[in-house]
Amino acid sequence: MIDLRSDTVTRPTPEMRRAMADAEVGDDVFGDDPTVNSLQEHVADLLGKEAALFVPTGSMGNQVCLGVLSRPGDEVICESRAHFLHYEGGSVATNLGLVTRPVPGTDGVITADQVGLLIRQRSEHNPGTAVVAMENTHNSAGGKVFPLEAARSLSEVSHAAGASVHIDGARIFNAQAATGTPAREWAALADTITFCFSKGLGAPIGSIVSSTAERIEEGRYVRKRLGGGMRQVGVIAAAARVAVDTGIERLVEDHENARILATGLRQLHEDAVVEEPQTNMVFLNLAPFAVDASEVAERLLSEGVLTLGFPGATMRLVTHRDVDRSDVDTALLAFKRVLRRDET
Ligand SMILES: *Cc1c(COP(=O)(O)O)cnc(C)c1O
Repeated sequence: MIDLRSDTVTRPTPEMRRAMADAEVGDDVFGDDPTVNSLQEHVADLLGKEAALFVPTGSMGNQVCLGVLSRPGDEVICESRAHFLHYEGGSVATNLGLVTRPVPGTDGVITADQVGLLIRQRSEHNPGTAVVAMENTHNSAGGKVFPLEAARSLSEVSHAAGASVHIDGARIFNAQAATGTPAREWAALADTITFCFSKGLGAPIGSIVSSTAERIEEGRYVRKRLGGGMRQVGVIAAAARVAVDTGIERLVEDHENARILATGLRQLHEDAVVEEPQTNMVFLNLAPFAVDASEVAERLLSEGVLTLGFPGATMRLVTHRDVDRSDVDTALLAFKRVLRRDET
């Protein structure tokens, strides 16, 4: 099977499995797990932050960050297709009691000009803006990079108006791979940042939050409240460490494979791809082929290619660690057979 549904589908590598088996562990709620402690220190260094906190999922990462930066009833400004607004079970409302104020962006980017006008202090009538959130790369926008200069302006305007800044960097290293800008440069603009080990980096489980030592201390409390205090979790952190050590540099391969996929699809029809991929996501536009999306997905499945249908007759195709160049070539042949069946 060639699984193009998401970069979350990767299986742990043999090196990860060995690291998991050999991991030194302790009770992490007591702060006793050396593998977790070492991972947290390593990631904090990597991002140029004081401290970091291992969490089970990216959704909990966002909640820990937003929870530390706000109080119930506060407002968080985000892009209107933000992951935590649409795909995290409403947790920001139900678990943190925050009001979300979505702002429509372009390619997932909201600007300092847009947001500067919206940030407000709490009054007798309205909630105050506690946090301005960015997403980098932006999932629903198709893996788009939040350009560093735009992020810097947004961060400056937010801080000047008294709001904190959070970056949902689930795929921040894809932004690094696409631009050559170190992830720490975005991290420097944010009060809190989170990323996933379990996306393109290839770990089976886990995400991390990074910030000041003081906020991370508070983050431990929020994590515990959310039920995320884990015990001998070094067995998982060990795989996450291998993901960081071996998964970051190779992300450029995923981007290259996404471009090859897009180019191949365009040979089937000039409008076959919604736009040139910036990172590891390709959106196949089914409109020119006059085919039924669910039928295409079914036929691709029988050809051994797994895809994810999106609204508007598009299909999301994601490249990752378990898809190599020859898999891309094989998938392209399947797309050709399924989309141009009259000619084959
Ligand atoms: C995947 C993702 C998350 C977190 O997802 P989990 O499934 O909870 O790990 C957060 N933000 C973005 C942008 C994501 O793509």
